[in-house]
Amino acid sequence: MVQQVRSQQSEAMTDPITETGAESSFLRPDLAAMAAYTHQAGEAGEAANQPLDPLDTNESPLDLPPALKEKLAWQYQQEIAANRYPDGGHGALKAAIAAYVNETAPDLSARPITAQHISVGNGSDELIRSLLIATCVGGAGSILVAQPTFSMYGILARTLGVPVVSVDRHEHDFSVDLEAASAAIAVAPSPVRLVFMVHPNSPTANPLTAAELDWLRALPPSTLVVIDEAYFEFCQHTTVAEVTQRPNWVVTRTFSKAFRLAAHRVGYAIAPPTLTAVLEKVRLPYNLPSFSQAAARLALAERQTLLGSIPDLITARQQLTAELQKLPNLQLWPSAANFLYVRPTQGCIPQQTCDQALDSLFRQLKAQGTLVRHTGGGLRITLGTPAENQRTLAHLQQVLGNFCHDLGS
Ligand SMILES: *Cc1c(COP(=O)(O)O)cnc(C)c1O
Repeated sequence: MVQQVRSQQSEAMTDPITETGAESSFLRPDLAAMAAYTHQAGEAGEAANQPLDPLDTNESPLDLPPALKEKLAWQYQQEIAANRYPDGGHGALKAAIAAYVNETAPDLSARPITAQHISVGNGSDELIRSLLIATCVGGAGSILVAQPTFSMYGILARTLGVPVVSVDRHEHDFSVDLEAASAAIAVAPSPVRLVFMVHPNSPTANPLTAAELDWLRALPPSTLVVIDEAYFEFCQHTTVAEVTQRPNWVVTRTFSKAFRLAAHRVGYAIAPPTLTAVLEKVRLPYNLPSFSQAAARLALAERQTLLGSIPDLITARQQLTAELQKLPNLQLWPSAANFLYVRPTQGCIPQQTCDQALDSLFRQLKAQGTLVRHTGGGLRITLGTPAENQRTLAHLQQVLGNFCHDLGS
């Protein structure tokens, strides 16, 4: 059932785009050149009639426990009036988020995070867009990203006509080329108002280094630093203390990953109150449905249970990492998140055909029944259930064996 929903989604998202021909002169020409965001490319593989292991979007492999779904259903029946707009101020949810942020950060008791520091969005994607609107839209500035990274920053910026300045990362550890970043900021045609960093980064799974953090702290107050901590719960290191000390620092997080609520689309920003006040101005009214607010509040109240599965996931990450390191044809980077990033080794693939080779690997894995994400010049593989992780290993072993044999002959 899940697979069906997914393919319907990607059809619905791609079809209208192909219709935007030159005759649609009312459209912005820059949008015609853009592709819609889909998270699943290509036609179904050999295993089309079998369910694929959905390891391409970094969701939790675990649904909410049935008892929590029952509680939520009870709330829907007894407490949520379907005919009424949701709480547009998100007061109770913001207070619960602030408490969670304080509890999971190094001592913030001198300057605690309060509900005034929190803004909630329809997924953190909405907050990313609100941040772009608040800082860059209308020719006010550009954004800086370090590739490979989360694609939504660039996609959302382009839909808003905001220029994107891209710099590279060092291949050995995927830390940002800071010299290149400083140089790019210095020559950017439109001033860089927003710097997006993921901590730990997607798709490469590396946390920010001390040098990167120092570089970010040294940016001028006219540049907003956005640290996307979508994977905080898997890494346990946060930069949230900076929010209370700097006017130009914001942390975004989501309920879509560790909290198992991707279906409910809840994200939040932790920012100085001067900034959350502006985020409140630019967001849509009633942006978060009552049911999603209830789900997020329940998830926070039950966080011991929901986050209790993370140590097992980290153990599984260590085990799968150790197994994949034994594969001779695979390059693997350490992960501080709930996914692994891999590339076939250089010896195996001529550099110029790297993307084609990756696409072929992606398709063969999919044909075996493991759906991963081909992005940023590598494959990003979400950690799933123990059974899914076993299949990931078996399928990679098989596919890489064939693959390098084909290339070698
Ligand atoms: C998954 C993810 C998010 C979450 O987005 P939502 O809109 O909250 O589902 C945000 N940032 C990064 C880097 C992610 O990987």
